[in-house]
Amino acid sequence: MKTIRTTRAIRRETKAARASGHPVVLVPTMGCLHGGHLSLIRRARQLAGANGTVVVSLFVNKTQFEPSEDFASYPRSLRRDTALCREAGADLLFAPSDAAIYADGHSTFVVESRLAKRMEGASRPTHFRGVTTVVAKLFNLVQPGAAVFGAKDWQQAAVIRQMTVDLDFPIRIVVAPTVRERDGLAMSSRNAYLSPAEREQATVLHEVIGTARLAVKSATAPLPAAALRRRLMRLVDKQRLAKLDYIEFFDPKTLEPAKRVARGTHLALAVFFGSTRLIDNGRL
Ligand code: AMP
Repeated sequence: MKTIRTTRAIRRETKAARASGHPVVLVPTMGCLHGGHLSLIRRARQLAGANGTVVVSLFVNKTQFEPSEDFASYPRSLRRDTALCREAGADLLFAPSDAAIYADGHSTFVVESRLAKRMEGASRPTHFRGVTTVVAKLFNLVQPGAAVFGAKDWQQAAVIRQMTVDLDFPIRIVVAPTVRERDGLAMSSRNAYLSPAEREQATVLHEVIGTARLAVKSATAPLPAAALRRRLMRLVDKQRLAKLDYIEFFDPKTLEPAKRVARGTHLALAVFFGSTRLIDNGRL
């Protein structure tokens, strides 16, 4: 595995990889890798085949953090990440500096203006603009045939898929399942911020999805979303350290809000533990 720091070198390496005629598959990450990221890299390896090239990008992208958020303190662990990427089967690790991606005078942004507005977009108004901008730049630099994203960030995957269609990137967007800890908490780099007491209560996100699933399964007709939301909010309220940001029901493809909840409706939620914000989602 090669580690690459400059845009010129990643262009050169991926150009050579494409010329070999074998697939090039990209996995964008912000590093501090965990089992969720590693599952995406393994999926990319499967898609690329033994002779293809798996590119993992590792870049803490400041434009997707709100001014009040944790950009400066976001965990960084390049040495450990390098070893993990190698073990998981990556060929190229692209770990550029901030200046390599955002040169002085950078003033162009990519905005998806429909799917990005609600849920995460409502709570974090400039977040998706940062995500789509950096992913578009990575797509241009690497020019992969496919890119792998996690279902953990369901809305992000939908926004990126829309951008890919709208801007004619000839790239297949593959979404891999959410990887969880034993007790159901979705793996996240931000779980490391949780105190032991918060960590214990953080399983409530998974519990909300499970409870909603059970309610849908045992209902004989679609359930009114407002009533189900109230019931689920009480579960979150019971956890002393948790503060709900949102619970939303929606169509998994269009992200249109659902007034009635039935099998196949998607649920997403965001919960604060102190200043740590966790998200999760699942199909009901
Ligand atoms: P991040 O480093 O948090 O920006 O995440 C990079 C990629 O890993 C995104 O496509 C995420 O959706 C994905 N990801 C993060 N956590 C998980 C998880 N627990 N399971 C599967 N994919 C994940």
